[in-house]
Amino acid sequence: MADFDLLVKGGTLPDGTEGDIGIRGDRIIAIGALAGAQAGEVIDATGDLVAPPFVDPHFHLDATLSYGTPRINASGTLLEGISLWGELRQTATVDEMVERALTYCDWAVSMGLLAIRSHVDTTPDHLNTVTAMLEVQRIVKPYLDLQLVAFPQDGLYRSPTGRANLLRALDMGVNVVGGIPHFERTMDEGRASVRDLCEIAAERGLPVDLHCDESDDPLSRHIETLAYETQRLGLQGRVAGSHLTSMHSMDTYYVSKLLPLIAEAQVSAIPNPLINITLQGRHDSYPKRRGLTRVREMQAQGITVGWGQDCVRDPWYSLGTGDMLDVAFMGLHVAQMTSPAEMQRCFDMVTVENARIMGLADYGLVKGAVASLVVLDAGNATEAVRLRPDRLAVVSKGRVVSRKTRNDARLALDGRPGSVRRRH
Ligand SMILES: [Zn+2]
Repeated sequence: MADFDLLVKGGTLPDGTEGDIGIRGDRIIAIGALAGAQAGEVIDATGDLVAPPFVDPHFHLDATLSYGTPRINASGTLLEGISLWGELRQTATVDEMVERALTYCDWAVSMGLLAIRSHVDTTPDHLNTVTAMLEVQRIVKPYLDLQLVAFPQDGLYRSPTGRANLLRALDMGVNVVGGIPHFERTMDEGRASVRDLCEIAAERGLPVDLHCDESDDPLSRHIETLAYETQRLGLQGRVAGSHLTSMHSMDTYYVSKLLPLIAEAQVSAIPNPLINITLQGRHDSYPKRRGLTRVREMQAQGITVGWGQDCVRDPWYSLGTGDMLDVAFMGLHVAQMTSPAEMQRCFDMVTVENARIMGLADYGLVKGAVASLVVLDAGNATEAVRLRPDRLAVVSKGRVVSRKTRNDARLALDGRPGSVRRRH
């Protein structure tokens, strides 16, 4: 009998060490120098980066791949995107949403993205969005961990059935509580919604992930209430604030008080650099604000910060490929995370730190963990961020689910090498 069902040999791990990975069933059972071991299947990763799978903690799977339906977002703003989606969700069928989402999940798998937290709009009374995404969750379960967040896109209170529908979605099996306090009618209602949502989560034993302060208004301070309610209700470690873009524009003295409160409550942060660099600052003349939250400052306080993708080809964002390295690449630039340690951290943010935010059990390249990994055509983690290279192999729960042939460019130049790989 072979020692392993699958052996990934010769790879370089994200921390720079080299190691073979032996897999049996859906588990990593050995890691280190495994020369001479017998395996049913071998992936030769010599000289390539072998990483745990990419994780996206912020996405909208119900809206993905709908770009241009019913129209293109002419102003490029968050608010026009919300209104376009408001039209589309009335007419989109369950089948159509399932099909779009499954197509996106195929893209994700091919890019080594094997865990996604998706918000699901709970505004429409028909809740077809929820029906569709629960079906997608069931279908992809063998190869992709999909968490669903009940998201009252039009407001918990601003939409007449907002609160009732959020509770219905949770009853149907959606198991993270979402919200959008900056979109409620007033600051007071926004604050009340944060309190209400945290109480719902506490009662039901669920995590919380709010779209929080996705605004250029420096006075949008719902993150303060979110940290307070997390502390008050004992929800430490299971609450996330997505976006937090108003923090970009806040008074720095106020932020110096705010960040320790977020750290104390163990609220994590999920900035979404691709979407926020395009959506924010649209009302500015010059200089235009970047609208990305204060990533390095939060990390310096010990706050867990991930990178989310948010959108791919939908009413808010026209581009996107399902590549979390695009997200890390943009985040690195906008947050100016250019030191070697910070570039490495950007890779960790789209893998281990995002996994921590989602609370993924048995994640990582360690003995006993779930055998999910990705082999990249890069020499190390920082090079992966720079190249955003091909995923040569993707393994999910012990099974090879995607393969890609190495494809170097072939040069035809006298006196120059015959091929180019751009590693350095
Ligand atoms: Zn979002």
